Amino acid sequence: MNKPFTPRLVYFEPQSLDYPLGKELLEKFKKMDVEIRYTTSHNQVRNLPGDNDLQRYRLAKSTLVVGIRKTLKFDTSKPSAEYAIPFATGCMGHCHYCYLQTTMGSKPYIRTYVNVDEILEAADKYMEERAPELTRFEASCTSDIVGIDHLTHSLKRAIEHFGKSELGKLRFVTKFHHVDHLLDAKHNGRTRFRFSVNADYVIKNFEPGTSPLEKRIEAAGKVARAGYPLGFIVAPIYLHEGWEEGYYHMFERLEKELPPEGKEDLTFEFIQHRFTKPAKRVIEKNYPMTKLELDEEKRRYKWGKYGIGKYIYQKEEEEDLKSHLFEYMKKFFPNAKLEYFT
Ligand code: SF4
Repeated sequence: MNKPFTPRLVYFEPQSLDYPLGKELLEKFKKMDVEIRYTTSHNQVRNLPGDNDLQRYRLAKSTLVVGIRKTLKFDTSKPSAEYAIPFATGCMGHCHYCYLQTTMGSKPYIRTYVNVDEILEAADKYMEERAPELTRFEASCTSDIVGIDHLTHSLKRAIEHFGKSELGKLRFVTKFHHVDHLLDAKHNGRTRFRFSVNADYVIKNFEPGTSPLEKRIEAAGKVARAGYPLGFIVAPIYLHEGWEEGYYHMFERLEKELPPEGKEDLTFEFIQHRFTKPAKRVIEKNYPMTKLELDEEKRRYKWGKYGIGKYIYQKEEEEDLKSHLFEYMKKFFPNAKLEYFT
């Protein structure tokens, strides 16, 4: 995906037009000649066109719903932050392994919330509650927020909001390279801008509809030059033939293509591939031809919340992945910090 996302269909909740961003988006989509419809609630978009589930799923992934975020109670977001800050839900990407497929169930369309001020006010209250402790907010728990921000600029506003705050920090991760409008945001070093990266095999086979690795690295360079603290999430770390070379080559490219500024305050997060039984069912339905390995027999079961456990790699495989990736990180980025391996 080289071009920024343009929805094929846009729904508006009528109340969203009471907000400046709602009005702005309506004008924008009218000019872009995108089909516009109205819905009583962003949770009630039904009758999407399409002859079968697969077609409807595809169209839903390029449908944007402009609404209001009513619940201003934030979810927790361990281990990378204290809270998830909700500016959007859903994503136009088609990563086969994406957990949003299960969490969004029958609503795979993308929702953006125009009451950004109210969301930021709620964040301020969370910060006050935890003062004098710092509070970190993760903006990409339920979407790839950068992927739609060229349309809404909500993330940009949030970056500037946290730029002014004393006790708040913002973080998000993306697989998209459309970052230019964020480069002049007054971030004040309080936002960690992360990119999701992977071995070529994983990107090629399982991440359609996202930006190519070289574009992500190029964007990471721009972001670093704009003074943002930078991070990379390697996820999902996936065993495949030649994975050692694949991940080595990924680190090598990152090191070669990143400018020196990008290597100064750098963090890594490592997340091994995992799946749950419900996720497996949804993946096989949405991407029936996927090569993604989802064999419970080959994995280790880890008990999880609400009784839904996940299948992760066997202990030795996990150790092997962990030690190799850690070694590569130290070799190519001796000053980087590993935040966690999970
Ligand atoms: Fe999911 Fe991220 Fe891929 Fe979007 S880019 S489909 S949020 S994994």
